Amino acid sequence: MKPLKIAIQKSGRLNEKSVELLKNCGLSFENYKSSLISPVSNFPLEILFLRDDDIPEYVQDGIADLGIVGENVIMETEVDVSYLQRLGFGKCTLKIALPNGSEIEELKQLEGKSIATSYPVILDKFLRENKISADIRTISGSVEISPGLGLSDAIFDIVSTGGTLKSNGLKPFADVISSEAVLIGRKGEENHEHVQDLIQRIQSVLRAKETKYVVLNVSQECLPEILKLLPGVKSPSVLPLAESGWVAVHTVIPERDFWNKISQLKAAGAQGIVVMPIEKIIL
Ligand code: ATP
Ligand code: MG
Repeated sequence: MKPLKIAIQKSGRLNEKSVELLKNCGLSFENYKSSLISPVSNFPLEILFLRDDDIPEYVQDGIADLGIVGENVIMETEVDVSYLQRLGFGKCTLKIALPNGSEIEELKQLEGKSIATSYPVILDKFLRENKISADIRTISGSVEISPGLGLSDAIFDIVSTGGTLKSNGLKPFADVISSEAVLIGRKGEENHEHVQDLIQRIQSVLRAKETKYVVLNVSQECLPEILKLLPGVKSPSVLPLAESGWVAVHTVIPERDFWNKISQLKAAGAQGIVVMPIEKIIL
C-alpha cells in the first residue's frame, strides 16, 4: 500500500515540537534538514518538510494526507481540511495593537484607520463581523515597525509575550483569535486505517504528557482520606507493604492540578511520594 504523507514545518517555531511528537509516537525517521522528504522505517508514512504557509493547501489538494500547522495559517489560507487533533504547542494570540499614545479607545474608532498585517484574511473577517471598515495594509514581515514609520495607525499580528510590541512602542488593544498547532487531514480520509492509527498514537502521547504517575505510602487509617483526594481515577491500585498497617497507592494525577494535589496528599498522611513521567496512555 502507498505510504501516507504528513507535512510538517521544515524549520521555524513548530518544527522541533512536530518532530518530537512524531518520534514520541514511536515513528523512526531521519530528520535531515536538507531533504524535503523522509521515509518512516516502521510505519507506512513519509514526512514532508515544508514552509508552514504551504501546508494547508498541500493537504487540501491531496499532495499530503496530513499536516501539522498553526490554526492561524489554516484560517488565513481558508482551506477546506479536517481538523483532526489539537496538539497543545505553538500557542499564540493574534491581536490588534496600537502605538502608545494613540487616541483610539474602542473598537469602532478603528473605522477609516489603516492597519498593517500579514494576516489580511483573518483581520478582514474580524472587521466585517464588527462592522468596521478599515484600510488593511498587507505586508509580509516586520509589521510592528509600520506605525513608527507612519505607514499605519495600528497593526494586527501574532503576540506571545508582548515584548516585541513593547520594544516598538506599541500596546495590545484587541484579541482577535488564539491559535495552537493542530493536526489536519484531507477531507474524506479521516477514517483511513493508518490515519486513525496515527491519531490514536498522538492522543496517547498527549494524554501521557498531561499526567504524572504517582506512588505514595500511607497508613491504613489515613487511606480513606487519601482515596477521597483521588477522584476521577477509576482504580488507584492499593498494594500492601512489608510493614503491616501500611499500603502503597499507585495513581495518575493531572499535571495542571499537580502541586495542589501533592500538598493535599501530604497533609492527609501520604509519605515517600514518588512521581514519574508517563510515556503513553493507551485507552
Ligand atoms: P516558515 O518559514 O515555515 O514560513 P514562519 O516564519 O512563517 O515559518 P514561524 O515564525 O516559524 O513561521 O511560526 C510558525 C507558527 O508558530 C506560527 O504560524 C504560529 O502558529 C506559531 N507561533 C507560536 N508563537 C509564535 C510567536 N510568538 N510568533 C510567531 N509565531 C508563533
Ligand atoms: Mg510562514
